[in-house]
Amino acid sequence: MNKCDVAIVGGGIAGLTGAIYLAKAGHSVTVFEKSNELGGRARTINKNGALFNLGGHALYRGGAAEGILKELEVKISGTVPDTKGFAIWNGGLLELPDSLKSMVKTRLLTWSGKMELGKIMMKVRKIDAASIPHMSLRKWAENEIKDPMVRHIFYALCRTSTYCINPDQQLASAVIQQVQLGMKGVLYIDGGWQSIVDNLRKKAVASGATILKNKTVSSIENVGQHQLRFTDGEAMVVPYVIVTAGPEQTFKLVKNAEGTLLDRWKEQAQPIYAACLDVALRKLPNPHHNFAIGIDQHILFSNHSRASKLSEDGTVVLQLIKYLGTEKEEHGLENKRELEKIMNLMQPGWEEEVVAKQFLPHITVVHDSIKIGDTQHFGPNVPEIPGLYMAGDGTGHGEMLVDTAFASAKRAANAIMRQIGAHGLPKEA
Ligand SMILES: Cc1cc2nc3c(=O)[nH]c(=O)nc-3n(C[C@H](O)[C@H](O)[C@H](O)COP(=O)(O)OP(=O)(O)OC[C@H]3O[C@@H](n4cnc5c(N)ncnc54)[C@H](O)[C@@H]3O)c2cc1C
Repeated sequence: MNKCDVAIVGGGIAGLTGAIYLAKAGHSVTVFEKSNELGGRARTINKNGALFNLGGHALYRGGAAEGILKELEVKISGTVPDTKGFAIWNGGLLELPDSLKSMVKTRLLTWSGKMELGKIMMKVRKIDAASIPHMSLRKWAENEIKDPMVRHIFYALCRTSTYCINPDQQLASAVIQQVQLGMKGVLYIDGGWQSIVDNLRKKAVASGATILKNKTVSSIENVGQHQLRFTDGEAMVVPYVIVTAGPEQTFKLVKNAEGTLLDRWKEQAQPIYAACLDVALRKLPNPHHNFAIGIDQHILFSNHSRASKLSEDGTVVLQLIKYLGTEKEEHGLENKRELEKIMNLMQPGWEEEVVAKQFLPHITVVHDSIKIGDTQHFGPNVPEIPGLYMAGDGTGHGEMLVDTAFASAKRAANAIMRQIGAHGLPKEA
């Protein structure tokens, strides 16, 4: 291992993005990834020729991710999926009111409910989210929406946009902002999110970054600069470190982190989880059933192949999500059965057509979300430990999901460049 100015712990989206910014500015940077594959939770797995993301993934258009990919000239290819589909209610399927035509047709709502849903969606589209007073999503929805079914539909939309399921805990302004982003459309990515990861890696390497896989950082210690130890017994000293490993792991890695910002971060952060069933079928038993949102269940069903290329031979990739919120306990079998029931409802006879399946019983979607009780943002720096920076999807400054990973990596890289600009590098680095 050569010496470098900046060591980055983690080769997911945040680590690779940070590496590009730093390397492009001429700094020597090395990314250490413990796995034998880059990408972290944005990896895509090829099973019998079907490309499965780790659960359904959609890139929000107009968000930080899209802006940063453009700025870094990292190309992505994908399409905005049609949201024509179904609402799952009471174990059955009803037309999802996503357009004027489906709004008129659906039996999910009364006439007055249809009018109210139209009005509230117009309001959500136009409102300046920053002007919404500090309140929970539930309080906002109860103030604004009278019809209980309209409220159910609104919460389902918020859930789909944020992966969070507790309107009492969510900050109304942040959720509305994310729903507004969702209204611009999301992209399903050709080749899965691995193609974003691969293109970030290529750009990082072309910019001069070094990337080492199968290299696990076991501890980080402030010894004036930072001493990194690895599980293979190697060690190195670097002036700057960015850690992208999430609050729990970062706290464990960094020596003497008690009482620092890392400690407060670990206490405040609440990871959001999901159970995901990904299914690849030779053909769809029902080609008209491509999309469904649970109204009385925390479920999403989406045919990703309708808007992205995820196989060479026409195999269709479906992704089902059960939103688990902050629920730490695993109910793998129960959740799998619930998702398979949705498959039976949407695609009866699907089991005859299976090419590949993947079930993720309890995966961390994000390490933290925006909550009503949050007292502060975290990162990019750790004030008590100079030279140590944090990035990744637990270090948002108002962004959500992968937008946080991208934006926080840019913040950390910029903060380090400012430090180096102001103070230079230590002589021995
Ligand atoms: C089911 C699911 C659905 C999602 N859907 C969406 C979506 O629709 N839209 C959206 O915007 N976002 C979505 N996300 C979120 C998105 O995938 C993540 O925000 C993003 O991938 C996080 O990137 P990251 O770099 O912050 O973290 P990670 O991807 O977790 O990367 C961290 C990396 O650090 C490595 N690492 C950890 N510790 C060490 C160590 N000690 N030494 C070396 N390496 C280490 C890990 O192996 C990992 O590769 C979804 C996530 C999941 C799981």
